[in-house]
Amino acid sequence: MSTEEATVAPANEHPLIELSDIQKVYASGDVSVHALRGVTLGIARGEFVAVMGSSGSGKSTLMNILGCLDRPTSGIYKLDGAEVSRLTKAELAEVRNKTLGFVFQNFNLLARTSAQENVELPLVYAGVSGKERRRRAIAALTRVGLQERMDHTPNQLSGGQQQRVAIARAIVSQPKVILADEPTGNLDSRTSVEVMSIFQELGRAGITVVLVTHEPDIAEYASRVIVVKDGYIQSDKQREMKEAIVPPEFVPPVSVRAPEGKA
Ligand code: ADP
Ligand code: MG
Repeated sequence: MSTEEATVAPANEHPLIELSDIQKVYASGDVSVHALRGVTLGIARGEFVAVMGSSGSGKSTLMNILGCLDRPTSGIYKLDGAEVSRLTKAELAEVRNKTLGFVFQNFNLLARTSAQENVELPLVYAGVSGKERRRRAIAALTRVGLQERMDHTPNQLSGGQQQRVAIARAIVSQPKVILADEPTGNLDSRTSVEVMSIFQELGRAGITVVLVTHEPDIAEYASRVIVVKDGYIQSDKQREMKEAIVPPEFVPPVSVRAPEGKA
């Protein structure tokens, strides 16, 4: 056996996400907007990337392309080794369902529908049997710490809990990448840390997380920060991520609590 044969190349040697010279031009009437001007970028499995940049810099355009919701005007996008930049809309939809999970600022949960049913929904579309759907939804909700709240509807949950349901819904189809656009935009700082700690945990389990945020405090919890400006990558820095430690909820000392039954 030669040395070369003895060295087994890892199956996922290539970056999970590979963008090469991605350009996006929006043409509306006579005006065309050059939203991305040659973005080249590799993102590895399990990386936790924060995308920052001022309004209009191209963050959403980039996320839409990464999320297979839109196609680049030119350039190559390889996801998990397969070129997705030239796929048809139907093929892109399949990649989305199998490989990607989405988390939004407004949670996008169905009202009057339990947490469990919300989480089961992607599996309904994928044709998974009822029993298996329940099993997987319960596992996903347990992973985000909501095993006690599975029967609650969104209006019976706090903002942070709703976002955790949305994360459970995003991970229930076992995606390789989670894309989150301002996931903490509607949350207070404590709850934001809670959400970031879940993302960090997903990263440790090998799921790649890419999130857009305006808040430098939030970006600190990522392992890499990419700043987009005028359709270019202005900076791209990898560094030790700050561990998201959720501070305990404030509980007043016993002496100042109202006596039982007299409150
Ligand atoms: P960000 O998310 O960083 O605010 P966007 O990616 O939404 O930036 O927008 C980048 C640029 O592309 C902006 O100038 C914006 O006006 C333009 N743009 C975004 N979407 C469209 C569209 N569908 N049609 C035309 N122009 C667009
Ligand atoms: Mg945007």
